[in-house]
Amino acid sequence: MNKIEHIGIAVKSLSESNELFKKLFNVPHYKIEEVESEGVKTSFFQVGPNKIELLEATSPDSPIAKFIDKKGEGMHHIAIDVDDILAEMKRLEGEGFILLNKEPKVGADNKLICFLHPKSTNGVLVELCQEKK
Ligand code: ZN
Repeated sequence: MNKIEHIGIAVKSLSESNELFKKLFNVPHYKIEEVESEGVKTSFFQVGPNKIELLEATSPDSPIAKFIDKKGEGMHHIAIDVDDILAEMKRLEGEGFILLNKEPKVGADNKLICFLHPKSTNGVLVELCQEKK
């Protein structure tokens, strides 16, 4: 595992939160991307060496809508950059972690992704991501 690739924050309104986080970070978001399969619209901020992803639900049954219903807006996941997502998925499954998808999915920002169930990670939703080659 290489580094934290980004931190994901669930928000109710991407347009309002883009303004809020622009004030906070003192830089505007550099892109907006919709991931239809996940029911989310995302925006990205580059803050020094770090990347922050804001996520807004695009439908009521989106995982982000469910998260906000249950817990409110806030920190949603930590994404870890890996070189070989298939190898890491296999390794982590062998260690007893619960994978939320059995095959890598295509995520935002040209990544292959896989989430680990927070039940198996002390309540933290962890996203593995690998740059799509
Ligand atoms: Zn993410």
